[in-house]
Amino acid sequence: MKPLGPIPAGYDAIDGQLAIAGVTAEELVARAGGTPLFVYSADLIRARVTALRAALPARVGLHFAVKANPFEPVLRLMDGLVDGFDIASGGELAMVQAAGIDPAQVSFAGPGKRDAELEAAITAGATLHLESEGEADRALAIGARLGIAPQLAIRVNPDFDLKGSGMKMGGGAKPFGIDAERVPALARRLVGAGVAWRGFHIFAGSQALDAAAIAETQANTVALAVRLAGEAGVALPKCNLGGGFGIPYFPGDKPLDLAAVGAALGEVLAALPGEFAATRFCVELGRYLVGEAGVYLTRIVDRKLSHGEVFLVVDGGLHHQLAASGNFGTVVRRNYPVAIASRFGAEVEEEASVVGCLCTPLDRLAEKGGFPRGEVGDLVAVFCAGAYGASASPAMFLGQGPAREMLV
Ligand SMILES: *Cc1c(COP(=O)(O)O)cnc(C)c1O
Repeated sequence: MKPLGPIPAGYDAIDGQLAIAGVTAEELVARAGGTPLFVYSADLIRARVTALRAALPARVGLHFAVKANPFEPVLRLMDGLVDGFDIASGGELAMVQAAGIDPAQVSFAGPGKRDAELEAAITAGATLHLESEGEADRALAIGARLGIAPQLAIRVNPDFDLKGSGMKMGGGAKPFGIDAERVPALARRLVGAGVAWRGFHIFAGSQALDAAAIAETQANTVALAVRLAGEAGVALPKCNLGGGFGIPYFPGDKPLDLAAVGAALGEVLAALPGEFAATRFCVELGRYLVGEAGVYLTRIVDRKLSHGEVFLVVDGGLHHQLAASGNFGTVVRRNYPVAIASRFGAEVEEEASVVGCLCTPLDRLAEKGGFPRGEVGDLVAVFCAGAYGASASPAMFLGQGPAREMLV
């Protein structure tokens, strides 16, 4: 048997079934009109924000990385909870605008921004996080043509990365950000050009569970921002410290020690020179805010035996759960937390693999896990589905189409 990932806190059984926000899985599916279904718990998202506010220094704002979950009801919920939204495309700009979010709270990072996207962001009053000098030139030209001083920050490619990070996005040659040594000259040029200068964005990696590694990266990040602002001779109105706060997906993963991260960051900020007293700092988080608040429900269509192994074939799959299938940024496939939702908390009776309905051997949601006996018609739950599920899976593959989504 292969171990399954840890089921996040906050999920109970009612009448032997998984319940989310006090409603059974079958009732949720009935309300949504069928499976496969992503269910996101507003209470769990709120609780996560509360925990972050309690742990982080008061002057550190919380941003939501929209790519983790752009479902409109989630964006509307977040609008009342966080201080900013980080987007990475014109499409996401349209999504946050459709959700009624004030573009003044929106920062747009990401490589390859097209002119139309730059123009939409400048017109709306969002902040652009510049990924290259070329992009800076285009943003300045578009601002001049529109007669608007664009709000610009520089995304810095730091000369360090986040240790133990699942996805490294800083350090060495990268498509993200502008190499630190070239930043002061550009910052001077932007401020000289009369833009609405917003400061630096430094993102060093994702999905770290080690508080010491995050604390070290945050200290390095603050030090780099201070050094670059000094070298450029410009003010630092804002500084986005990146994120990287991870969640436990796999067997043996332990939750991040948030209190330790917050305490260390508090010390770093308290030691800053007086000229940074007005600098607004923020962290940008995706999965940490919403990942554990989401569950993917899918129904068993077939139960079959092959060479003595049990396969539970469900009506969902990697087209909604690319990461759980092990095909999104993982080297060795390990099991996410998966359970038979219709028999939640029941004893383990057999070893079974949960496979999706796609005709590819990649479509595995759980491999050789220990489960109560799953029957045709039972619901299966994949946990940690609130981030990079619906938004980061190839829903059109094999003509399957998107899953249903609901916020409860
Ligand atoms: C994806 C991304 C995030 C969010 O990452 P999580 O691991 O979901 O917290 C934050 N910032 C940037 C720049 C990103 O690309």
